[in-house]
Amino acid sequence: MTTYLRKDLKNLTPYKIEHIPYTIKLDANESPFDLPQSVRNVLAEEILGGLSFNRYPDSDSNILREKLAHNHALHTSQLMVGTGSDELLQTIINAFVSKNDTVLCPHPSFGMYAVFTRIAGGIPVDVQLNEDFTYDIEKIFRCIREHKPKIVFLCSPNNPTGNVIDKKDVLDLLNNYNGIVALDEAYVEFSGTSLIRELVKYPNAIVLRTFSKAFGLAGLRVGYLAACNELAEDLYKVKTPYNISSFSQRAACVMLDHIEMVNKRVAEIICLREKLFQSFEGINGLKPYPSGANFILAKFEDAESVYGRLLKNGILVRNFQNNNLICDCLRITVGEKNENDYLIDSLQQIMTEVLR
Ligand code: PMP
Repeated sequence: MTTYLRKDLKNLTPYKIEHIPYTIKLDANESPFDLPQSVRNVLAEEILGGLSFNRYPDSDSNILREKLAHNHALHTSQLMVGTGSDELLQTIINAFVSKNDTVLCPHPSFGMYAVFTRIAGGIPVDVQLNEDFTYDIEKIFRCIREHKPKIVFLCSPNNPTGNVIDKKDVLDLLNNYNGIVALDEAYVEFSGTSLIRELVKYPNAIVLRTFSKAFGLAGLRVGYLAACNELAEDLYKVKTPYNISSFSQRAACVMLDHIEMVNKRVAEIICLREKLFQSFEGINGLKPYPSGANFILAKFEDAESVYGRLLKNGILVRNFQNNNLICDCLRITVGEKNENDYLIDSLQQIMTEVLR
């Protein structure tokens, strides 16, 4: 059959989510906490009478940006809201990457940096993290000299490894490289060291944030970015109009109005993560990596077998069969207390069987 797809995209694989039956979902770094009733009530009222669904939404999410600007002590002109940070990653790449331009992507890290680069006709260049997953800033500078990338992506805390990049390294990069540095802070609430305020002062920095993790709004698809005025102005030339539904804008605003509840939940997840880490350390045959996110990467002798056995117990986690650096690792999202307890019991039993 004739194929109409661009030749350079032939080998791209669709982002397919397999529907695997599970009881406990610990595979996608979502919040274990759904919206509280108080927030649902506010949103229910919006559906029953507040919002006009026959009208397009506010194209630039102005009210939401005002609230974000207030919270971060930034100007609204320095902020853009996207349909998840996924859309903003694509907006950034579309704005700065032409055919055959290179983009540095840390590896292992979030796969969409490379995918969106290829869709834009650019060439993703992997920069391997150190064995303990820390960033090797000297290697990044060598890659910059060799490949002259348009964008360097950084992810901190990094997905899927959980480590936080040194602030010194980020600033070193910004001060000595004049391409775009895009710092993805999707999980930063769980590490508490956002560089958003500091980085907007740079002419070449962009920070990405999301409501999908700490705010528990993954189903409504809201993310945002911050950059200096000039960079933000350029990005607005590429942004799709009316990208966030009225309902999602309103829901994100309501979550910001309940920021104390969000902070409490974040603190609880951090506490659960630390307990989970300690429990993992006490199980034979499993090595957890320290994490500043809402998940823990753990190394096993035979990750695939443990993955299958967990699934038999109804627990879905993330495996990385096709990723050679972490093919013996599983990424496990921090769940609610009872979910984590069940996970620990299951893992203890599984590891005894596996190591027998
Ligand atoms: N960045 C990172 C590092 C992620 O892990 C994810 C989601 N898994 C995203 C960005 C995209 O998040 P969203 O589009 O839901 O905001």
